[in-house]
Amino acid sequence: MTTARAYAATSATEPLVPTTIERREVGPLDIAYSGVCHSDIHTVRGEWGPIAYPQVVGHEIVGTVTAIGADVTRHKVGDRVGVGCMVNSCRECVNCLAGMANYCLKGNTQTYASVDRDGTTTQGGYSSHVVVVEDFVLRVPESIPYEAAAPLLCAGITTYSPLAHWNAGPGKKVAVVGMGGLGHMAVKIAHAMGAEVTVLSQSLSKQEDGVRFGADHYYATSDDTTFEALANTFDLIVNTVSAPVDLQSYLSLLALDGTMVNVGAPAQSLPISVFGLMGNRRSFAASGIGSIAETQEMLDFCAEHNIAPEIELIEASAINDAYERVLKSDVRYRFVIDAATI
Ligand code: NAP
Ligand code: ZN
Ligand code: ZN
Repeated sequence: MTTARAYAATSATEPLVPTTIERREVGPLDIAYSGVCHSDIHTVRGEWGPIAYPQVVGHEIVGTVTAIGADVTRHKVGDRVGVGCMVNSCRECVNCLAGMANYCLKGNTQTYASVDRDGTTTQGGYSSHVVVVEDFVLRVPESIPYEAAAPLLCAGITTYSPLAHWNAGPGKKVAVVGMGGLGHMAVKIAHAMGAEVTVLSQSLSKQEDGVRFGADHYYATSDDTTFEALANTFDLIVNTVSAPVDLQSYLSLLALDGTMVNVGAPAQSLPISVFGLMGNRRSFAASGIGSIAETQEMLDFCAEHNIAPEIELIEASAINDAYERVLKSDVRYRFVIDAATI
């Protein structure tokens, strides 16, 4: 075992504190930067169910390979790499065999708060280093700024995957609900794919940024006339909101055969009206991160289109204040921890 520095939650209600954790010996990768996802907050606060403490979260990891196990062929010492939300899967189920470990029927091994192969609880990226099996490690193109690359490993892939699956592209009208960490990446990626992009945010306070990220239109959902003006408009709505929203209002914005896909993951169930779907033969769906192959495709796509997350780099000791700002929708647009400060 080897000791890593980390910031951990010790209960659902205490601030995160510096600590050390033990990791497997073989082939660690030195973490350079670690993004702060709203899922980290849902998890440490027990909103998605009870977890074991202490728990280190963080699943937007970029860093450098410092050592490799004897059988490793995909990565070498010195490579700039990334690790996202999952670090293993059963490798046997029909979904794993189809290359979609994110939908592993036995549940993939998540980067944190999951049972690892050796029975221990996985500990995530708010840490000095991590040990990950090679085929769950991604190549991070050199042209993507190092500190801005981390959020691609969750916010990037979680929005790229549904946009690609539901064919966002030229001639398609795509709405993005909520312009936080995931939402701002959805705007950039959908724009780069060639879609006509509309942001539906709680207010117009981030409109200038939205337009800079590639939005063609920007509306405030606090303004009731928005829902009248945009009725029956969109081919695809990507909902990134971390809290429950009134689904019927958003479904009414879908055009014929349009789909609303939730990537936002509030703990509460969202009631849905069958009649709301029946008009315009609408679909409601949800999407979970993306496969490893798709994550690599997304990283290469972002490099090719010069897309990177907008980040605020913080020292690890600022993590608890950063959580408060995320909860107030006061994030521009992803906090990233400089792992050297852990
Ligand atoms: P975030 O940075 O906090 O962004 C969420 C945005 O939603 C906020 O910036 C805000 O946008 C809007 N919002 C927040 N509270 C709201 C409310 N009460 N009513 C209406 N709008 C509200 O969070 P994130 O990191 O992007 O994550 C978003 C959600 O996706 C979380 O639930 C997270 O757990 C989930 N997630 C899911 C997956 C997956 O695989 N499906 C992966 C990663 C994250 P405006 O200020 O623009 O209104
Ligand atoms: Zn995440
Ligand atoms: Zn599986």
